[in-house]
Parts: sequence; C-alpha cells; structure tokens
Amino acid sequence: MGGVSTEAFSSQRFADVPSTHEAYQHINYLADKGIIKGYNENGLQLFKLNNPVTRGQAAKMVVLGADYQPLKVAQSSFVDINPKTEPELSGFVERAASLGLFDNISDKRFNPNVPLTRGEMSKVIATAFKLDVNRYASYPSPFCDISTSYPYFKYINALYYNGLSQGSNGKFNPNNHLTRSQFALFVARAMDAKFRLAVKSVNGQSCSNPSPGKTETIGRATVNGLNVRSAANASSSILGILNRGDEVNVLSINGWWAKVNYKGSIGYVHKTYLKLINQSGSVVKNRIIVLDPGHGGKDSGAVNGSYAEKRIALSVASLVKEKLEKDGAIVYMTREGDTYPTLKERVDFAHQKYAEIFVSIHVNASASASAKGTETYYSITANENELEDKVLATNINNEIVKQANMVNRGVKREDFYVIRHSVFPSVLVELGFISNNEDLSKLVNSNYQAIFANAIYQGIVNYYKN
Ligand SMILES: [Zn+2]
Repeated sequence: MGGVSTEAFSSQRFADVPSTHEAYQHINYLADKGIIKGYNENGLQLFKLNNPVTRGQAAKMVVLGADYQPLKVAQSSFVDINPKTEPELSGFVERAASLGLFDNISDKRFNPNVPLTRGEMSKVIATAFKLDVNRYASYPSPFCDISTSYPYFKYINALYYNGLSQGSNGKFNPNNHLTRSQFALFVARAMDAKFRLAVKSVNGQSCSNPSPGKTETIGRATVNGLNVRSAANASSSILGILNRGDEVNVLSINGWWAKVNYKGSIGYVHKTYLKLINQSGSVVKNRIIVLDPGHGGKDSGAVNGSYAEKRIALSVASLVKEKLEKDGAIVYMTREGDTYPTLKERVDFAHQKYAEIFVSIHVNASASASAKGTETYYSITANENELEDKVLATNINNEIVKQANMVNRGVKREDFYVIRHSVFPSVLVELGFISNNEDLSKLVNSNYQAIFANAIYQGIVNYYKN
C-alpha cells in the first residue's frame, strides 16, 4: 500500500522524470503496465533516465513488454548468472536467450551488467516484438553510417520503417549505448502504435563528417574481461568489456589510464592491461620502460674472483637504456650507480613511473662450474598478465640465446619479488653464469655486454612488434 499513498502525494511517479521530458509519457506507460519499477532511494522513486541500459535490464523490459513469461531454470545457461541468487534476472535472461534476442554471448557469458549498444538494441526490439524484418531488408537505409552489409542492417531498417527510430543527424550510431530513457522510448513505440514516429521517404545518404581513422597508438587488451570505464578511475561506471586481443584507439594517456575511443564513445582503460602499439615510427617510441639492474651497493650479487653481478647488470642495463632512448622510449632505471634500492623500493619506483614493462637484469651462479646458459623468468602469482609476461620473456630470452650464442635454459616461472609485485608485463633475465668460465668470459667482455644489451633491446622491440 505504500506505493499507492506515495502516489497520492506526488505529482509525478518518478522524481527524476519531469512531465516535460520527451520520454515522460513512454516511461509512465511502461510503469503502468508493470514493465519498469525504477529505484527507491532515500524515499524518492527514481527512474535514472540517463544511466545506460544494461543487457540484463533490456532483457527484462522486452520480455515483459512483448508479453513473454520468464523462463525458470535449475541450471543457468550462463556462467555469470546464478538462478538461485538472482532468480528474477535469470528468468528474463533465459527467456530472452531462448528467443534469440541477444548477440555477443561468448564463453557462456551473458554480461548482464554491460550496457547495450544501439546495434544490439535493434535486434532485441525487432525480434522480441516480431517486426517485419524481412519486408524492409531490401529498402535503402536512411542512415549514412549503416551499409547493407552491416550485421544489424535489416533490424535497423525495420525500426526505421516501422516508426521506432529516426536516428540522429542522419546517423544511427550503432556502437553507442542507450540510456534507460531512450530504451523506454523504443519499447513503448514497439508496444503501442500511438507512440510511433512518422516515416519519411529515404534518399541516398552520406555522412558529412566521416568517422576518424586509427589514432597514433592502438591499445590491445592483454586479458579477458577488461573494463572500459566512463572515467579514469576504478569506481566509475562500466561502458563495456574488452577481451584479450581486442583493440581500441588510444586518444591520450594520463598516469595509469588510457583515454580510448570505445564504440563511438570516450572510455578509459587501465593501461596495465593494454599493450600499446604505435602506428608509426619506432614501436618503443613513448613507451615507458623500467630497467632494474640487480643488486648494487652492499649487495654484490653473485661473485667470481674480482667480478661481481652488480657491475655486469648495471653495464648491460645502461646500454639497453641508451638503445631504447635512441628510439624514443621513456626509460627509467631503478639504480644508475652502485647503490642498493630494496626490492620493494624497486617495485614502488616502477609504479611511480607508471611502467608499461619492467625488465630486471641479473647474472646467475651455481656451485657446479659446468652450469651455463641464459634463462628468463616470469611470475604467475597474483598476476593477471602472465600470458603477456611469458611473451615478453620469450622474446628477450630468444634474442640473448641467438645473439650472444648462449645455451638456452629457457623461459621459466618463479615468483621473484620484483616480478611478483609488478602486474604490468615484467620479467627477470639471468644473462649467464658467473661461475662458468665460458659464460664469464662473455659477461665481463665489453663487446659481449653490448651484444647482451642489443639482444634485450631487440627482444623488447620484437615484443611490441608482434
Ligand atoms: Zn641476481
């Protein structure tokens, strides 16, 4: 009864939907039919007009609007929906899926909290409300950004020729998201002819301002389920999800956050999970690379006579830095001289610099004088970027083996502190054994140190090239 009495005292059903809003009648129509409820917050009933409509919310609205029943299941078809804890959502999503309304279902994920795009919406609405999709499939598109080969072409045409959509300035913008109020407009128009728009005849259309091409830097997701957010912080709303290999145009980078073009909108992605690929010039230009010469100061690392790991590591790292900087990379070293930063200080330093990759350089030692060769480590503990770590480690290891003619001990997993605590791609290189005469002769030879450095440099370049 509370709802009724609230209604009596309130001139409008939703406090945030004024009677002057273009979707006022549509939203109230849907609320009258029990299709939308809104949110009760601090005693106010809100519709949240401008929030993006999610795939889960859209499923509920069209299943109810088109007069279907929720489909109850014991076992969800989707790994990201639990019918026991989310019975209502599960019922609507299962029904929507059984009707074939939604695309972009992969790995059995429905992604109920991901915003719907306008392209996806066209299929959801046209299919749920049984618009005569095939009838208009041969009609010209009224939208300059929709070609006949576009996957949602016939659904978008059905929306237009049935008076459900007029687009905006001649465009349909299929990759944009819709707000909850925009989705309410479409559902109400689909349900009741009184809400439909006049349909104008269509002449040839061409977009006056073509969409921009690729930007200078492309970001390629290194993990699955990477959030694209509406602002440069981890608590802002989620515009969508990238999976490993997906690419976005990067507009700019500020600290950890890459500002990207996402389906026609501006979004933000944490760059730790983006491989940044330059579209011209050197692949390392502007990349932020932290080199970590092992040990230093009071800690000599492995020693053999007067030779010490700390000096070899610093010499090689300094040469790598020089080569990368010549190509325009932004390179930082955790130490530039014979000092001893703690392991934590090295990791903190890399984070302060917003490192994009981290390479720690070491020299091995063994009680057995016959042990020799190169090996490169990556960490798998608490590290979502392990696939990327392994690619970087492999590229560097292969070049050292090839260029310095070293025995290949391979790429290995080990949770060394500096790589365990760095989620950006991070590896630890053991150039060779100071305890082996053949390796030692290379490690302390300045010509070979240049070869080791060139190999690490080339490994980094190859990593960015592939
Ligand atoms: Zn070491």
